[in-house]
Amino acid sequence: MPGMKETILKEKVDPFELIHNPRLNKGTCFTEKERDTLGLRGLLPCRVHTADEQLQRAYGNYKAQGSDLDKYIFMSLLLDRNQTLYYRVVLEHLEELMPIIYTPTVGQACQEFGHIFRKPHGMFICSEDKGRMAEILHNWPQKDVRVIVVTDGERILGLGDQGANGMGIPIGKLALYTACAGVHPDFCLPITLDFGTNNGKLLSDPLYIGMKHERIRGEAYDELIAEFVEAVEEVFPRCLLQWEDFANINAFRLLQKYRDSICSFDDDIQGTGAVALAGLYSAMRMTGGRLGDQKILFLGAGEAGIGMANIICSAMVAEGLTLEQARERCWFVDSKGLVVKSRVGKLAEHKIAYAHEHEPVADLLGAVKALEPTALIGASGMPQTFTREVVETMTRLNKRPIVFALSNPTSKAECTAEQAYTWTKGAAIYACGSPFDPVEVDGKRFVPGQGNNAYIFPGLGLGVIATRASRVTDEMFFVAAKTLAGMVEEKDLEQGCAYPPLSRIREVSAQIALAVAEVAYENGLATRPRPEDLMAHIEQMMYQPVYDDYV
Ligand code: NAD
Repeated sequence: MPGMKETILKEKVDPFELIHNPRLNKGTCFTEKERDTLGLRGLLPCRVHTADEQLQRAYGNYKAQGSDLDKYIFMSLLLDRNQTLYYRVVLEHLEELMPIIYTPTVGQACQEFGHIFRKPHGMFICSEDKGRMAEILHNWPQKDVRVIVVTDGERILGLGDQGANGMGIPIGKLALYTACAGVHPDFCLPITLDFGTNNGKLLSDPLYIGMKHERIRGEAYDELIAEFVEAVEEVFPRCLLQWEDFANINAFRLLQKYRDSICSFDDDIQGTGAVALAGLYSAMRMTGGRLGDQKILFLGAGEAGIGMANIICSAMVAEGLTLEQARERCWFVDSKGLVVKSRVGKLAEHKIAYAHEHEPVADLLGAVKALEPTALIGASGMPQTFTREVVETMTRLNKRPIVFALSNPTSKAECTAEQAYTWTKGAAIYACGSPFDPVEVDGKRFVPGQGNNAYIFPGLGLGVIATRASRVTDEMFFVAAKTLAGMVEEKDLEQGCAYPPLSRIREVSAQIALAVAEVAYENGLATRPRPEDLMAHIEQMMYQPVYDDYV
């Protein structure tokens, strides 16, 4: 990454451009010398501020915003003004800011994207751009893009089809790459593939920012995706491509098609799987049980649910079970009831491996009673489906029932933290997708762990980027999960928390990056020579929101 100083001196950036370019702007922190040398005198208030004073002002303004959506908009505008200051605010207040720049607020932002839209971030490519996608990608000003998060907006969190409004998600995810793992913002490119929407509300909204036609399907869709992938490879060779919030009719197919031919992964399938596995490893430390002995019932057999089961099965196999035995320990309830053998023929391809021999069961409560699971994991996008009766039944069956309500955003959680802890009198090992506050039951404080992919994908991406790995493998997710679980401390477990505090996220990401980089080197996937000190190389790559001296 070239220093800003070289860029500014070499390119003789116009002073007015300098204070209006978010990548270069330092606002009131431009030094006296910079003001003189770069022609900034008079363009700024006269007193030079320290970075800490500037942070204080920005954070104060952030706090003064009324609603969470106002805070989201404030932060987007800050990113438009001053990238360094934006990341400084985010990093200094990460636990507070994550729910604003990402889930749950980003969900609301996507739903209202056309109405709150100020300035574009990232790139939009529509079906009408067929034949010229590479040419369009060349319009992006940064030439060294190392990670792209791309969505077609069809399954945004648990909110369904948001069309081009789904852009909030790639923007948010890439902000987390930078905040959580220090991937340099210049390496990151959010992209929305605007291939239509079937959301009638958006199609009739005059302020909708996307193309007003129904979704392209079938062969025409696949051709568009194929052109997009080729264009990315041509314009940004060896870039990591993260598939994000595609509907499951496409997500599984795209992952299958591209996982072995380009450097790509699907966070909803693989990242979610890794974060859930890490949570289960921590739960095992709390119960003293063994993963291979668990019987896990999932509510929701989509990308997240199946992704979790797949990686959990790999972990069980690593403990000595056969794949068959492992799969038999994972059961699913979808919108039509228990996923069983007699439904094969009508089941989507990705569910078939988990369709076991059992009589049909219509609902979750029936399935809990019939199967007596040790763990219940929600990835259905259906709120309040872990009813009191379901959770109490889990408690009758298990001393410490594992209840992970992972659907996002908060409004879609299968049950809240408070419900899980009070209904089980504190016995539940609970985790959620979007954050919930700690809960007190009978004088004991429980801290719900947030099973958020942000623990996994930024560190994994950093490891891939640091080695310029040619592929992303399942083993990388497996080691990422193990590394994450290994960083949960006894004091976290004592509060019932299955994940380390978010305040340690950079440390977690660096360790995950190291583990992933080791896998890349061991498997001959790294295309960059191994540095003498791999950890030092990773740490040195991590972006810090600190101003460069320009003169
Ligand atoms: P998806 O559309 O692929 O799958 C949803 C599944 O839920 C489908 O199998 C569907 O049949 C099932 N379902 C729908 N209604 C149901 C009902 N009433 N009862 C039982 N099952 C029902 O979606 P996905 O990508 O798997 O995401 C599902 C949820 O998981 C979303 O809310 C998403 O935000 C969340 N998620 C959370 C994380 C995290 O980090 N915590 C990561 C990824 C996804």
